[in-house]
Amino acid sequence: MSNYDVVIVGACTAGTYFSNLLAKQGLKVLVIDKDEEENLSRRLDIFHFTHQSFQDYGLEEAKSGDEEFVRNFDLCYSKSALDNYLKKSFLKVAVMHLPLFIKRLRKTALANGVTFRFGVSYDHLLYDEQKRIKGIAAKSGEEIFARLVVDASGIPSVVRRSISDPFIEDFEIGPRDKFYVLLKYVELSDAKDKVELSTSWPYYKGWIAPQHSANGAIVGVGANLSYDYARKCMAKFERSIPLPNYKLQYEELGCTPYRRPPFSFVTDGFLVIGDAACLTKPMNGEGITSAWVQCTPAAEVVAHALRDGKYPTKEALWKINTLYQRGEGAEFANLRATLIGAVDMSPKDNDYMFKESIVFKSDDEEVKGSVTGKLIKGVLTGQFSLKALRSLMKSSSCGQKLEKHYKNYPDNPKDYPAWKKKADKLWSKAGTMADNIKDA
Ligand SMILES: Cc1cc2nc3c(=O)[nH]c(=O)nc-3n(C[C@H](O)[C@H](O)[C@H](O)COP(=O)(O)OP(=O)(O)OC[C@H]3O[C@@H](n4cnc5c(N)ncnc54)[C@H](O)[C@@H]3O)c2cc1C
Repeated sequence: MSNYDVVIVGACTAGTYFSNLLAKQGLKVLVIDKDEEENLSRRLDIFHFTHQSFQDYGLEEAKSGDEEFVRNFDLCYSKSALDNYLKKSFLKVAVMHLPLFIKRLRKTALANGVTFRFGVSYDHLLYDEQKRIKGIAAKSGEEIFARLVVDASGIPSVVRRSISDPFIEDFEIGPRDKFYVLLKYVELSDAKDKVELSTSWPYYKGWIAPQHSANGAIVGVGANLSYDYARKCMAKFERSIPLPNYKLQYEELGCTPYRRPPFSFVTDGFLVIGDAACLTKPMNGEGITSAWVQCTPAAEVVAHALRDGKYPTKEALWKINTLYQRGEGAEFANLRATLIGAVDMSPKDNDYMFKESIVFKSDDEEVKGSVTGKLIKGVLTGQFSLKALRSLMKSSSCGQKLEKHYKNYPDNPKDYPAWKKKADKLWSKAGTMADNIKDA
């Protein structure tokens, strides 16, 4: 039997980063993971992390010589479905090994007093006589007591899914709610084709990016439903876009949540973070720093809720909801809904969107003229279909309504049921990315 202020289930980017923030607030924190330390996050090797994030999240910049560091690049391109209209994003990005990056995060957390235990699997929640969460039981039968339980278990969302509480949605992140990502690590046949920055084709949810070998690249595609369907999308992407010739080295398969996050992240004695809370970016499914946007201010709220030996009620934790949902939550709700319509169209329609910088634009581009005017002009000149116009108008109207609603996220749990009811209605109108699939 052991007692902690906080027990976190899941020791990857969300759980480890959050544990360090809590320890810095003076809390006694335990992080458990079902995997052994040497197998942690083995599902994914290479990942991308913007340099701005090192500063934003108080991390030392990774540099040449650090074991997790591979290389930097400072420009990302995106192109239309017909391979036109290059858009530039001026982001300095670090390419790193994820398991080694997590090891670095863990080292800092350990230095700040966090306890890690590996090979410990969550089984169920423990409740006191007043039916309040008081800790967790591991599969081994061991009981771990803590005033706050945090679910950072990724897609399985093992704790969130085991809670029966009107403030916590216990949905499964199923095939329609995630992207199956197929990554081909390839060796380029011609050294002239060297891939030094990342280029994406949002229409195909496909991209090519650098990897650890200088003559290599990663060709990736993400798609709902299954790995089989992702393979089909990869074939379509490679048929449509002239990628450099390559020899396949190996493949990596992984999933990332692609659905709206739960409406509330907290209830009495509980918080959900990271992939378990579906906090991934609508544009590309990346989830490391978008999850940290939620858990950085959450650490202060948690410390306040636990001060003087208090039990963390949902009222005391509620600010975690309002801070996130009114900020990144509102922005992502709009984008997630808008993108559903923005990709449900023909390659020619998508090409016109790039041409006119509608939704897809360069960071340094000054976009002139109204979007509606450009869309109508597109229809009248035969460059943009009426069907695509309808789809985009519907999705962007849903997106704007959702953003407004999220900005009015309730100040306290009492007003949550009415807010949730309206949010449910708006999302049912918006639909999901999986609704667009016609060729599975
Ligand atoms: C192919 C691919 C490429 C990606 N590239 C990027 C990228 O470049 N940049 C970016 O920001 N994001 C990227 N992402 C997304 C990113 O990897 C995730 O958003 C992020 O790793 C999620 O972290 P997490 O800590 O929430 O969950 P996870 O990384 O899923 O960690 C959850 C942990 O919980 C543990 N766990 C699960 N069940 C239990 C249990 N019962 N008991 C105890 N422990 C349990 C697991 O063992 C695991 O270690 C990518 C995703 C994929 C699939």
